[in-house]
Amino acid sequence: MDNNKLHFLAKTADILTRELDSSELVKELKVVLESYITLKDLNIYVFDPNSSTLRNYSKNWSIIDENLPQEEKISAYNAYNTIHGNDFVINNKAYKLPQTIGEISFRINSLYMPIVKGGMCFGIIEIDFEENTSIDMEFLFLMKIFGAQISLKLQNIVLNEQSQVNVEFHDAMKNIAKIIETQYELNYIVPLIGEMLDRFISDHLIYVFLKQEGEFKLIWPKACNDERIFEALKHLDSSYGYILTNDDKIGAFPLLTDGEITGCIVARSMIEKLSKRDIDYLEQLTRQSAVTINRANNYSKILQYATLDALTSLNNRRQFETRLKQEVAAAKRQQKPLCGMMIDIDFFKKVNDTYGHAAGDEVLRKTACIIKDLLRESDIPSRYGGEEFAILLPFTHLEEAKVVGERLRKAVEAAPVTVGEEEADKQDISVTISMGIAEFNPEETGEELFERADKALYEAKKSGRNRVVTI
Ligand code: GH3
Ligand code: MG
Ligand code: MG
Repeated sequence: MDNNKLHFLAKTADILTRELDSSELVKELKVVLESYITLKDLNIYVFDPNSSTLRNYSKNWSIIDENLPQEEKISAYNAYNTIHGNDFVINNKAYKLPQTIGEISFRINSLYMPIVKGGMCFGIIEIDFEENTSIDMEFLFLMKIFGAQISLKLQNIVLNEQSQVNVEFHDAMKNIAKIIETQYELNYIVPLIGEMLDRFISDHLIYVFLKQEGEFKLIWPKACNDERIFEALKHLDSSYGYILTNDDKIGAFPLLTDGEITGCIVARSMIEKLSKRDIDYLEQLTRQSAVTINRANNYSKILQYATLDALTSLNNRRQFETRLKQEVAAAKRQQKPLCGMMIDIDFFKKVNDTYGHAAGDEVLRKTACIIKDLLRESDIPSRYGGEEFAILLPFTHLEEAKVVGERLRKAVEAAPVTVGEEEADKQDISVTISMGIAEFNPEETGEELFERADKALYEAKKSGRNRVVTI
């Protein structure tokens, strides 16, 4: 072999051992091939059994370029369908390499080579040449080696991508199962499940519905304006695993508890059909979600009788309402001052998004601890919901409440929270809170008192956060 060819093979081997992204890899291969022969284009297509289509590796696995002229699309499919067991497809015909190199040369416009694994063809390499390019047998031998090298690379890539998806799938399953360790409020859990599914099934839109009073109510995301989804929901039946619309673009997966439909997870695709693999994943994720939601439901039934919040051990929302009524009545009766304080953690969503929900929970726990430790015995702190705390300060005027508020604000600011499960990924994150305080006036209800505190909190947020606003 002459230097030129050896150089070409060495360069190819070099490119294939590098860590390049898909479009760079194909671009580099094209450059090295171009240094050897004039060509128009190089494409690598892999067959996706889920959607029965060829996908362009260098274009993020998109289905063969929509913009391609029909005949070109067809010729890639033709080549893929005819090449099995052969080495090349030239002018729509499949050939095997002969035993010897020989002197023949011929003219071609395009050349297809199989991407193989264990003797099975799972994709096709397409090389487009200038019109009537002359090639010889030696070139075909060279291309056989080139194609085999690419095959090995693609085997690896496909395997890696599949195991990556599997890892993500198991993470999603685990995370859905794990939510229940610290949370039981459906208002919190369902959107979280929606987000997790959406992140995992990123090619399709996800909707989560719960059945309330016999009707499907959309819980996540906030809106759904696709009538076909509501139509599909009408056809759900607990005896089917799931249903698909005729075009296979919408799938509805019922959430089942003891054989009853308690909700539904819907996946909607804008472009492609739901693949067999998506459906398989969604079925399993729906099953796990149903278990989590069902357990949350059971917990909340039991917790109806509880007065404390499970995560922070502060009073829960229900207990807060009870205590608010009592304290308002007492303040009126005794003509004693009473203040209401609303606290909200700043940029809390960012903590969840950056460090995960376990870290978010830790921040909630720690903040609640600081609040409780700094208050007087007679003060009544509660977890109002999410990352909001409501505090009742009996026998306290606005000015004193403001001092208390400032003390809480500074204490939270001064105590970073350590998050991270493993020793290696432990880190300290700083947390701040915003606060609105109002003093009870005997003309108003307890609810109105907290509406005003909430308004003050809104002002605190608007004017920069990490501050106390009184009203
Ligand atoms: P702002 O400064 O305006 O308050 O921004 P924010 O990000 O704190 O506010 P937002 O209300 O957008 O986000 C609150 C987040 O709190 C959204 C929700 O997912 C999260 N959350 C609510 N309850 C819990 C919980 O119990 N645990 C965890 N980890 N996150 C929760
Ligand atoms: Mg909030
Ligand atoms: Mg907040």
